Amino acid sequence: MAADAPTRPSPTVTDDSAVFWDAAAEGRLVAQRCADCGRLRHPPRPMCPACSSLEVEVVELSGMGTLYSYAILHHPQHPAFDYPVIGVLVDLDEGVRLMSNLTSASKDDVHIGMRVQAHFASTADGAMIPVFRPREDS
Ligand code: ZN
Repeated sequence: MAADAPTRPSPTVTDDSAVFWDAAAEGRLVAQRCADCGRLRHPPRPMCPACSSLEVEVVELSGMGTLYSYAILHHPQHPAFDYPVIGVLVDLDEGVRLMSNLTSASKDDVHIGMRVQAHFASTADGAMIPVFRPREDS
């Protein structure tokens, strides 16, 4: 990305997702966990999909995961990104799936099953967004 290019857009924060984005602003990756049955869930939402409980805890995740799938995105283009963008679905080691971008990798290196590690990218408004890069040991 050019030095004068705008940074990526900020996320839309809702009452349900604020816990996720507040943690991201501190460089932490979190997920909700049902306080009754223990199931992790993402994206954040008020009710457990397994047992319908409204009791929730927030747990910190390792940020380590495995690429479940990806897409090489060419269009439409936003000036904050270098293209192609690698859009990814990551299965985190704790058992939740996250949609994000793969950075520090070329489209020729990406493959399903590769090990990735979360890090954080800043946005135009100073928010932080979790993105992923290949793990050195993958
Ligand atoms: Zn539950």
